[in-house]
Amino acid sequence: MSSGVVNSGRAAVFFRKELLAHDFGSGHLYRVKERLDAYFTLLREKDIINKSAPVLESKHSLNEDEILAVHDASLLENIKTLSTTGGWLDGDTPVPIGTYERIKIQLGTAIKAATLVMEGKHDRAVLIGAFGGHHATSAHTGKSFGFCYFNTSAVWIKKLLRQNLAKRVLILDLDAHHGNGIQEIFYEDPSVLYISLHMDPRYSFPGTGFVDEVGSDAGIGYNINVPLPQKTTTQTYLKAIDEIFTPAMKNYKPDLVHLLFGSDTHHHDPLSQLSITMDCYPAAAQRVRESADKICGGRVITQLAGGYDIPVAARAFYLVTGVMLDAPTLDITEPHGEIEDRTEADVTARGDAVITAVKQKHTSLMT
Ligand SMILES: [Zn+2]
Repeated sequence: MSSGVVNSGRAAVFFRKELLAHDFGSGHLYRVKERLDAYFTLLREKDIINKSAPVLESKHSLNEDEILAVHDASLLENIKTLSTTGGWLDGDTPVPIGTYERIKIQLGTAIKAATLVMEGKHDRAVLIGAFGGHHATSAHTGKSFGFCYFNTSAVWIKKLLRQNLAKRVLILDLDAHHGNGIQEIFYEDPSVLYISLHMDPRYSFPGTGFVDEVGSDAGIGYNINVPLPQKTTTQTYLKAIDEIFTPAMKNYKPDLVHLLFGSDTHHHDPLSQLSITMDCYPAAAQRVRESADKICGGRVITQLAGGYDIPVAARAFYLVTGVMLDAPTLDITEPHGEIEDRTEADVTARGDAVITAVKQKHTSLMT
């Protein structure tokens, strides 16, 4: 496996092989190495990464100030200490020895990639990390950490904003869970428009992400939650993207789009109860690309997030990566076989009602 940047025209995959060493422990649902090995194997099998693609070194040594622009110093100290001894943030989120070194690699690579995109070296970047981020709030205390240490997305976005490399960033969070950390960090900030599609928080971790959480102060109207019912199908999911994300792009006019992509929306994922099928993922990624091409010079930074069925995660991540890298063909085979159509009229009706409620709540961005 190569380390560094794999180029495909105007797009690039960013990955550092040191991240493979991150091990949440036996029995943990997040199997980092297995998932990444399966993903890269598929990318090579499908010829998306190949010998002719140049591999560049692209390193950025993370400055602690870049973490402290987002997070409390106490969290930084806590994680640094746990990283030397080994320990736990909570029962789901171990901090194995060496975690902080890998955090610096993951966040530093993300900052470097985002900077290269904004400087015009690439149009699109796909960031491959080893741990989550969107549940990490600024202090990141409380009961549940959701496999996250620091908020990777927020760290590189704040860096771009502080350096004036971007003035407005739109985040489309397609993980099955609500990104409570991203919401909290940018809740008062109109320079980041956060749109999250996730499963109904009444039945899903972390329990936030309702339609009426719209932002506060100057950030009012720049936080859009789309809490979809259990068993939501691909048709309703894509409708939400078409009727909420697409007009929001047109009206907000960001400098770049950040696609946070999780495969835990899939009907086979053990951590959610949505009914999304594999064909949804390239269709969603394609919509992001088309909007970005029209609105923000094609700039998209994709970051892989949750997904706990390994064959599903590898396939879904390959599909989204393939769209971003202009793969000529994509194989949407379901790793566990095709399923019967699971559309249920009452679920569709409730999903439609959520989409309508979101549009009514955010009329200025939806016209
Ligand atoms: Zn998730």
